[in-house]
Amino acid sequence: MRIVVVGSSNIDMVAQVSHIPAPGETVGNARFIQSFGGKGANQAVAAARLGGSVTFVTALGNDMYADILKKHFTEEGINTNYIIDDSHHPTGTALIYVANSGENCIAVAPGANYSLLPESITQFSEIIEEADIVVMQAEIPYETIKKTALLAKQKGKKVLFNPAPACLIDEELMTTIDILVVNELEASFISGIEYTENNLDDIAQALLRSGARNIVITLGSQGVYMMNERETIQLPSFKVKAIDTVAAGDTFCGALAVTCSQKGISREALSFANAAAAIAVTRLGAQSSIPTLVEVNAFIQ
Ligand code: ATP
Repeated sequence: MRIVVVGSSNIDMVAQVSHIPAPGETVGNARFIQSFGGKGANQAVAAARLGGSVTFVTALGNDMYADILKKHFTEEGINTNYIIDDSHHPTGTALIYVANSGENCIAVAPGANYSLLPESITQFSEIIEEADIVVMQAEIPYETIKKTALLAKQKGKKVLFNPAPACLIDEELMTTIDILVVNELEASFISGIEYTENNLDDIAQALLRSGARNIVITLGSQGVYMMNERETIQLPSFKVKAIDTVAAGDTFCGALAVTCSQKGISREALSFANAAAAIAVTRLGAQSSIPTLVEVNAFIQ
């Protein structure tokens, strides 16, 4: 299961505050937490913990976080040989306020993530050659996503695309996608059809008509839905006590990449990803919540 993830890395700087500061206000007594994030990094870590042989293509900045993140990825068993060092920008950073009420407020500085350019992917084409599946999200330049997907398709590789944050997808990119993973809001945005709970079939059919081959719509606590030209599968979520849904979608994508990398989409593959994501929502944090293969197998039995 050789998985190449091409995507973002961020340092999340979180201040837990009594309330979100108003413009000009200073809120004291904040609790500071620093953690590793970015959808690309989260999905790479998920795929590695769940048994994939993962290479992560990402760009890190001209600061101490580059070394810290490389060490972290190496400890997760991820191949870091294709990480780009960007000497002109800082590592991607998310500045997050979380109020006691749960309300949050986030500013993302993409920094080096926007230096992951199509030229880098062309230089790294040998790594795509060796992959079973290439996994991407939308926190890097669109042109890089497109170049990577076209190259992967040319080499006969599977492409899993998770367009989060939601972005419009042109026809050429859409036709390269084997597995499109979206939540209901992204599905609605991309298809242009408002989600009403009863029209998943219409939304999925519209996305299939746009050229992607398997449409996977994650439904939070409602589980997951999948449509391709042969079948439609809907699975309820595993019943768990959810305490923090951060990185549920990323855990789902990483897990699905592992199970679909060789055999493609199946009920079992969707169920495995559903289980991995269910475990993730029972734990706090992003990467800290992602389970291992042993944990998911024990949970499923
Ligand atoms: P996020 O942006 O928070 O990572 P998302 O919006 O991309 O999430 P969701 O659809 O909320 O993705 O969740 C992804 C998957 O996580 C679901 O399909 C399901 O498998 C699992 N999941 C989410 N919430 C729950 C829950 N409350 N109980 C069990 N499983 C859940």
